[in-house]
Amino acid sequence: MSDIIHLLPDAIANQIAAGEVIQRPASAVKELMENAIDAGSTSISLIVRDAGKTLIQVVDNGCGMSETDARMSFERHATSKIRTIDDLFAIRTMGFRGEALASIAAVAQVELKTKKTEEEIGTQLIVEGSEVKLQEPCQTPSGTNLSIKNLFYNVPARRNFLRSNPVEMRHIIEEFQRIALAHPDIFFSLVHNDMEIFHLKPGKLRQRITSIFGTSYNERLVPVDEQTGVVKILGYIGKPDFARKTRGEQYFFVNGRFIRNNYLSHAVFVNFEDLIPDGSYPFFVLFIDIEPATIDINVHPTKQEIKFEDEKLVYGFVRAAVRHALAKYSVTPTIDFEQEQALNELQAQGFLKTPPPAAPVALETERSQGGFAPRYETRQSKNWEQLYEVAARKENAEAATASIFMADVGEEDPEVEKTQTEPIQIHNRFILSQIKSGFIVIDQQAAHERILYEKYLRALNRHTPGSQKQLFPKSVSFSPDDAVMLKQILPEINALGFDVQEFGNDAFVVHGLPSDIAISEGDEQAMLEQVLENYKNNLAVLKLDKRDGLARSLAQQASIKSGRQLTVKEMKALIDELFACEQPYIAPNKRNTFLTFDFDELEKRFAQK
Ligand code: ADP
Ligand code: MG
Repeated sequence: MSDIIHLLPDAIANQIAAGEVIQRPASAVKELMENAIDAGSTSISLIVRDAGKTLIQVVDNGCGMSETDARMSFERHATSKIRTIDDLFAIRTMGFRGEALASIAAVAQVELKTKKTEEEIGTQLIVEGSEVKLQEPCQTPSGTNLSIKNLFYNVPARRNFLRSNPVEMRHIIEEFQRIALAHPDIFFSLVHNDMEIFHLKPGKLRQRITSIFGTSYNERLVPVDEQTGVVKILGYIGKPDFARKTRGEQYFFVNGRFIRNNYLSHAVFVNFEDLIPDGSYPFFVLFIDIEPATIDINVHPTKQEIKFEDEKLVYGFVRAAVRHALAKYSVTPTIDFEQEQALNELQAQGFLKTPPPAAPVALETERSQGGFAPRYETRQSKNWEQLYEVAARKENAEAATASIFMADVGEEDPEVEKTQTEPIQIHNRFILSQIKSGFIVIDQQAAHERILYEKYLRALNRHTPGSQKQLFPKSVSFSPDDAVMLKQILPEINALGFDVQEFGNDAFVVHGLPSDIAISEGDEQAMLEQVLENYKNNLAVLKLDKRDGLARSLAQQASIKSGRQLTVKEMKALIDELFACEQPYIAPNKRNTFLTFDFDELEKRFAQK
């Protein structure tokens, strides 16, 4: 038998590779623009015709290529960006696989004009279907000017597969925007069929965002800026009021590279969950900088997916950073000294005289240099303690808010002395609790509603409620419409720890109640009526889903109310549980659960004459 295995000719191998890297005009746009960025350009112009189907041209003012390099750049696995396998794990450039130009040249007619700054004369090259048609010296400005004509001209199956011009153009604009967002310091323009669609002057990220999405975005942006020894995050999140119904305006860049990662998007989203309506998504443009050795970008040819060595660590970090940003910009708890009624009350009572406790200071950055101990259960009942402890070593208000962040990443340091004092209740309504940077004032009812709400939601989602059997089953009856409603939500009600069963007509029998609800026997009827009432109100106003509405309603009903006196033990438990919440800052009805008062601010106020 004769041998049947043979090597594929380059042209065919490249066409196959092109199938992976170049799926549509937008993929070619991405590759060319990234090359221009890697070349150190400060100005990049994209020109397309017919949504890129007939022409995609990128003109840059980067380093350009020598004659030999220009010829080499179309060879497969030809790259100037890595040399050894070790380089692969220290990537700071966009490209490195050395297959984009080879792939593109296999499926299109490509014309390249390029000149290195220091050279007098440039090179022109024409390649069609991997075949070099022309190579000669030419007059051209420094930089690179690369045109792709008639993409997929020799692969009809692919060309037919392309979508309508508006669809392909949308993909191109998406790629263009991502790259432009990632490099605000570079000038970009996009011209489609002789019309300039974008003209983006170099500037700061905020300017870049507003010139892409519109000036109205300027007031919507909340800065995010956080750093530890291992990761850094920088960028903007949109204020909750401006959340949109589309997931589209969410951008993550890892080491300057746009990536899709639902897990990380979730880390942002959880902070907004209670601040924005269901089915809407917050805007964000976030840059994560991380040691290249701790990520793997070579999981997919388009490099839009990456693997993190420790994804949980990054998740916790992103989540905490966004939470911190929201808190700091008063989107969640407000620190408004002018209008804060509660503070005036406190001042009147002399509470603000407490001198700041002195404690040795170790800087957070020093501590995190060795990498923070990653422990990221979503719920950590001891979170708040760390807030207090870590806070106890901070000198200023800034550091104290950062400590909320520290608490979130679950850092523990047993050497820290406790400087925590006992909480104080005032007006049977607020709990005053000392932190190093000042103190917080907790609204006991709002806080407890938050705690119960999360607890009930978990119970509903898990269906493992704690129910306490009634010694004597109690029968209750309702108005016909309440009865109908109760029947509709009976499974959920029971998932919350009730044990209620239908008993014909509009009557029910209560066999058990949630174990954490303190009601006296005989109050079952009133209790259930109130829950139904809250539920109806919540439904009318909020259009919640059944479970959410129910968890809210029961939380409202069962929470500790304003006016109830609490023991120190109860207060401590409340604080503990509050800071173990997913979203401790606001009650389900969006009221703040606590406010922070910093010494810095207080000192400023006292200094005012
Ligand atoms: P990669 O970007 O992965 O290295 P490409 O096929 O995209 O592979 O490009 C091959 C090589 O061609 C690059 O490594 C670079 O040296 C050179 N090159 C491509 N585009 C440009 C450009 N716009 N300016 C300067 N050099 C470029
Ligand atoms: Mg490239």
